[in-house]
Amino acid sequence: MAEELKEGLKETTNFIHQKIDEDNESGKYGGNVHTRFPPEPNGYLHIGHAKSICLNFSTAEKYGGKCNLRYDDTNPVKEDEEFVKSIEEDIKWLGFQWDNIFWASDYFDQMYEAAVELIKKGKAYVDDLSAEEIKAYRGTLKEPGKNSPYRDRSVDENLRLFEEMKEGKYADGEKCLRAKIDMASPNINMRDPVIYRIVHATHHNTGDKWCIYPMYDFAHPLEDAIEGITHSICTLEFEDHRPLYDWSLNELGWWDPQPQQIEFARLNVTNMVVSKRYLKKFVDDGLVEGWDDPRMPTIAGIRRKGYTPAAIRDFCERIGVAKANSTVEIGLLEHCVREDLKDKVPSRNVVFDPIKVVITNYPDDQTEEMVMENNRNVPEMGERTVPFSKELYIDGADFMEVPAKKYFRLYPGNEVRFKGAYFLTCTESVRDEDGNIVELHCTYDPETRSGSGFEGRKVKGTIHWVDAKTAVKIKVRELGYLMNEDENGEQQFNEDSMIVKECYAEPLIEEAKAGERFQFFRHGYYIADSKLTTDDEKVFNSIVGLKSSYKPK
Ligand code: ATP
Ligand code: MG
Repeated sequence: MAEELKEGLKETTNFIHQKIDEDNESGKYGGNVHTRFPPEPNGYLHIGHAKSICLNFSTAEKYGGKCNLRYDDTNPVKEDEEFVKSIEEDIKWLGFQWDNIFWASDYFDQMYEAAVELIKKGKAYVDDLSAEEIKAYRGTLKEPGKNSPYRDRSVDENLRLFEEMKEGKYADGEKCLRAKIDMASPNINMRDPVIYRIVHATHHNTGDKWCIYPMYDFAHPLEDAIEGITHSICTLEFEDHRPLYDWSLNELGWWDPQPQQIEFARLNVTNMVVSKRYLKKFVDDGLVEGWDDPRMPTIAGIRRKGYTPAAIRDFCERIGVAKANSTVEIGLLEHCVREDLKDKVPSRNVVFDPIKVVITNYPDDQTEEMVMENNRNVPEMGERTVPFSKELYIDGADFMEVPAKKYFRLYPGNEVRFKGAYFLTCTESVRDEDGNIVELHCTYDPETRSGSGFEGRKVKGTIHWVDAKTAVKIKVRELGYLMNEDENGEQQFNEDSMIVKECYAEPLIEEAKAGERFQFFRHGYYIADSKLTTDDEKVFNSIVGLKSSYKPK
C-alpha cells in the first residue's frame, strides 16, 4: 500500500485474523498467509468488492504474506477488456498492489486432470439426466434426493464418456459430470453436485480448445490450491458450499496443506445496490451515464463522485468483519468521507439559485479584495482574496420577503453579515411585472468591514456572496441516492437522483482542475467532474453535505 495511504490506519483484528493467528501458532501453513481477490470480469467492481479487496489485501499485508488478483473466468464468455482494465485501476486506486495476476482458465488442464482422477477413484460419474431431471431428483430440505439411474456406471464407461464429452460428441446439456457423494446428505450441495458441464462456446483465453467447463464449486478450491492460497476468504452464501470445497481437495489429496475457506458477511449499504447484475441493468437501460456515473455504487462511480480511497478504507475498517449479514447505513460512509475531506480541501464561495444584490450606497466603480481563509480548520492552507463590489449574488435561500420564525438571514429591514466583507441591510426587493424578484437593494455600513475590529453591534445572520462582475458560471450536479424506498419499503430507482443547477462562483474557480475537490462554503463538498470539466466549462458533482444527523457508534 502507498505510504501516504497507510497513515492513520489502525492495526485491526477480527475473527479471520484470529484464525490466522491460530494457524500460525500451530504451524499449519509454515507461517505463510496467502490470500486472493477473485472477481469475475463481467462488470465493474462495487463498494461490496471494496470490502473484499480491503480484507484480502490488508490481511496479506498485516502478516507479511501475498495477495493475488485472480480473474475467475471459468465461464466461457467473451472477455471484456474494459472490465479487466477497470478492476485493475480500482484496486490500485484503493491503494493496493497484487503480487500476481492469474487467470483461472489457465488451470483448465489441471482441472480436467482432477476430474479424471475423481472418476478413476469412483468418485465422479457421467450423468445423462437433463438439468430439470437433476433438479427433480435432488429432493428438498425435508426429503432426501434420488440416485440417478446413471450413478453406477463403471469407471471405464465414465472415463470413455467424459473423454467423449471433451471431444465434443455431445450437445450442451446432454451429459454432465457429477461428484458421487450422497443423495441423502442434509446439505443439498453435497447431493452429487455437477462439477463439469458441456458448453459449446469460445473462451476468450482458451478459444475452442474446450467444450466442457468446470463448475464454480469444483473450480474454486482447485484454483486456490494451485496458487498455494492458505486462507480463501469469501462471502457467507458459500458457507454451505464449504463441505464441497473440502471434499474436492480431500478426495484428490494432491495438496498438503490445503487451503481453507473462511466466510464473512457480504457488505450491504442502504440506498445502494451491490450486485453487478442490477448495476449492469441500470447501465444497459440508460438510467445512468455508465458504470462510472457518479451516482453508481461502483468504485469507478464513487471515485468520480469524489469519495477518497482513504475514506473507503476507513469505512471498511469501521464496519469490521462480521459473521452475520446486515445492512450498513450509508450515513457511515458519508461520515468517513466528510472526516477525510474536512481538513484537506479548500473553501470556495458558490451561490445557488442566485439573486442579485445591489448596494445602493457603494461607490460605482470600486472593487475591494477581501481576504478569506482557505480552510478554517487548517491555517497552513493559507488565504485567498475575493473581489467585492457594488453588485453581488447571494443564494436564493438566503432571502425571504416575509421571514419565517427564527430566520436570521436577509429580509427587508434586516441587517446581516456578508461573510468576510460588511454588514448589509436590505432596503427593498425589486420585482418584475410577473412578481418575480429581479434584485435586492441593500445599503452597507463602511464601519463594519471585516477585520477592522468593529464591535459596535452584532448581527445574527452571516451569508456568503460572490461578486457579480467577476462571477463564473458553473454547472453543479446535486447527486441524490441512486435508490430510494417506496411506500412498500421496496428499493427503487430514484428518478431525482441528479439535479443539475447553474450556479455562480468566485473567480478562482476558473483554476479548478478536473478531479479537484472543494468545500462550497455553507453548501457541502464538491468535485470538478473528471470527464465533463474543461477549460471552458466547469462541472461539479456533489460529494457529501457538510453535516448530518448521523452519529457513528
Ligand atoms: P455480484 O453479485 O455483484 O456479481 P459477485 O460476488 O458475483 O458479486 P465476484 O466478481 O464473483 O462478484 O466477486 C469477487 C469477490 O468479491 C468475491 O470473493 C465476492 O465474495 C466478493 N464480494 C462481492 N460482493 C461483495 C459484497 N457485497 N461484500 C463483500 N464481498 C463481496
Ligand atoms: Mg459472481
